[in-house]
Amino acid sequence: PQSHLQEALLRLNDAQRRAVLHGVGDAAAGALLVVAGAGSGKTNTLAHRVASLIAHGGDPQRILLLTFSRRAAQEMSHRAGHVLARALGLKHEGVPQLPWAGTFHSVGARLLREYATSLGLDPGFTIHDRGDAEDQMGLVRNALNLTASGRRFPGKATCLSIYSRVTNTQDSLRNVLAQAYPWCAEWEEELERLFGAYVDAKAEQNVLDYDDLLLAWHEMLGEPTLAAQVGGRFDHVLVDEYQDTNRLQAAILRRLKPDGRGLTAVGDDAQSIYSFRGATVRNILEFPDQFARDGQPAHVVTLERNYRSTQPILDVSNAVIAAAGERFAKRLWSERACAGRPQLVLVPDEAHQARWVADQVLAHREGGLRLKSQAVLFRTSSHSAALELELARRNIPFVKFGGLKFLEASHVKDVLALLRFAQNPKGRLAGFRVVQLIPGIGAATATRLMDALQDCADPIATVRDFVVPAAAREAWAVFADTYAELRKADPGSWPTELEAAQRWYQPHLERLHEDAAVRIADVEQLVQLAAGYASRERFLTELTLDPPEATSDRSGPPLLDEDYLVLSTIHSAKGQEWTSVHVLNVVDGCIPSDMATGCADDIEEERRLLYVAMTRARDHLHLLVPQRFYVTQQRARGDRHLYAGRTRFIPGSDLKAYQQMVWPAPPVEPPAVPPPAATIDLRNRLRAAWRSGQVG
Ligand code: ATP
Ligand code: MG
Repeated sequence: PQSHLQEALLRLNDAQRRAVLHGVGDAAAGALLVVAGAGSGKTNTLAHRVASLIAHGGDPQRILLLTFSRRAAQEMSHRAGHVLARALGLKHEGVPQLPWAGTFHSVGARLLREYATSLGLDPGFTIHDRGDAEDQMGLVRNALNLTASGRRFPGKATCLSIYSRVTNTQDSLRNVLAQAYPWCAEWEEELERLFGAYVDAKAEQNVLDYDDLLLAWHEMLGEPTLAAQVGGRFDHVLVDEYQDTNRLQAAILRRLKPDGRGLTAVGDDAQSIYSFRGATVRNILEFPDQFARDGQPAHVVTLERNYRSTQPILDVSNAVIAAAGERFAKRLWSERACAGRPQLVLVPDEAHQARWVADQVLAHREGGLRLKSQAVLFRTSSHSAALELELARRNIPFVKFGGLKFLEASHVKDVLALLRFAQNPKGRLAGFRVVQLIPGIGAATATRLMDALQDCADPIATVRDFVVPAAAREAWAVFADTYAELRKADPGSWPTELEAAQRWYQPHLERLHEDAAVRIADVEQLVQLAAGYASRERFLTELTLDPPEATSDRSGPPLLDEDYLVLSTIHSAKGQEWTSVHVLNVVDGCIPSDMATGCADDIEEERRLLYVAMTRARDHLHLLVPQRFYVTQQRARGDRHLYAGRTRFIPGSDLKAYQQMVWPAPPVEPPAVPPPAATIDLRNRLRAAWRSGQVG
């Protein structure tokens, strides 16, 4: 097998191979950091490393692979499996799976459930997504009467952001307020009280929010026996996209692999685009020292050859990022044959932009490029609205990533709340949502029920015997039966219990919504989706942590065997590549966004965002500059009409690297036809005509 592996590794360049084989057969080797530019094969190298660890006898169960999204984890397992299949001569079914591949949050959730009893947690805990967490914060805020003083206390979303930032940066509330929320600094004391009550409320209900998953995982590893046990389960921990991790995630890694042995991280400081969520590029910069072993800093490998894009695309991308103050300076080069210069296209407005993009997409398809190898990227989910209309009008199928419409739909949330309530009877938000669907049950009754469930031994009986207003009695009995069925459901028979949920919900749905038919289809979609998960608990956890990103039109995930154009926010396009890429709205006010225009750090993050977008392209890159661009400004309500202009990240001096176009071409005056040489003497003719008194 090793010789076949050698063969697979021959495809890699020297630096990549060094990274793949680092520490193989060398007990003294410490941590490894691969820091390199876009498209230089970081993810590919990581996949080969996983394959080579397994080929050298490593146990797939003992490899922990941490990625940015579930999709990325699946893709990487797939790539590693492919290399391994060839190296070991396996049929594809025989390729070992990586059971521990996922995001920090989902892996954290699984470990917490497994060790729940040692942590004093009920293993049936449910997870609040951002929306739930905000609502919960709002409830606590109201209960504490913090809004009563007459001064304007920060809203629930702001409170949650502050709380989350404190957690993820591992900084003090005072510092976070001073640095990021100076206008809330006067509330420090109240916020302290609020956050304390928020933590208690979650504990009482047996729910965790996103931040808790990391925090609890970190705490768990702070206990020496647990740390030894959990850390000892994984011989290797590999992390992709390390530039977008936060302080807490780095701290978890330090507790998992204190001396860095068996730890590999790859990333690109030039692509760090998540600092608004507390991620910090300092993690990657400080990695060598944080994971030093016996005084030796971690081994760093850099990659400079880019295998993804053509040189002209790299030239313009390099120019955008060169102006940034990067710490790990790198100059990417490529040998990929040239397919012309990137285009910079000036269009009058977003409607024309949509038409031009649709034209080009079809032209590329005529030229033999499948829709799937083309993508349209944009700053914010709402920016594709005009394009979506245009694509629908022309029957061009598309899938959109980065919008969460499907799970945000109220009827989908209803069904999920029912499942959550069955999973965790103490979860107030889910319980509230579900029981109030029943006519005759209002907030007061719901509160009474949730209080009763708070410390009861038998939730099924409590629900069954609960006294409701007379008008609701019959419907309540039906609900109690369904609840019992869901609670008792055998974990092995998932997802059949969903039928019971569906049966109960359908009449409510029909009563509440005029467009019930469409919504029923969504619920069916949810049932189909559920079949892909091993258990109710895994389904709820994964769906909450990493919702299926794709939405085609307004209904659920698309049929993935069809050809479709990819629409994606730039943030969701991380790590991916397409033969042709269109980037919409490359204008000031969008990239950089008008909300970022101010603080220098924000602006630099926007620069990196453009760099990420541009480096997704393999052969064709089209940047669009609508001259009239609508922005929604938070302060000035409503849409504002702006004459924006090209982004500041492409200064005039860089324009020669592009093929510049104006579309539609401005109307041209018809070319003047040169007059023939004069052949008549008009003046004498007129005189003669007048004298003779006749014309003609
Ligand atoms: P990003 O920074 O965008 O995440 P990356 O550094 O992770 O990029 P990959 O996605 O791993 O880069 O690789 C980019 C492309 O280059 C992929 O299509 C990959 O298959 C190809 N590639 C990587 N290494 C090699 C190689 N040694 N030979 C040929 N192709 C390669
Ligand atoms: Mg990558």
